[in-house]
Amino acid sequence: MRDPVCGVELDEPRTFTQAEYEGQIYYFCSMECRKKFDTDPDHFVPTVLERQTEFQNSRMDH
Ligand SMILES: [Zn+2]
Repeated sequence: MRDPVCGVELDEPRTFTQAEYEGQIYYFCSMECRKKFDTDPDHFVPTVLERQTEFQNSRMDH
């Protein structure tokens, strides 16, 4: 479980700072990181388009 904003590894989920984005739950070490994520989530997680492109590329390799 990793804080996507500062990259810190979290020993256990901090439910009070969790956020849901595009069906995924993300956990943060502090409200400050959560606020940064809320401001610009796309900056911290791969976009759906990027994930689809990756998938298509890996299929073309085979
Ligand atoms: Zn953090």
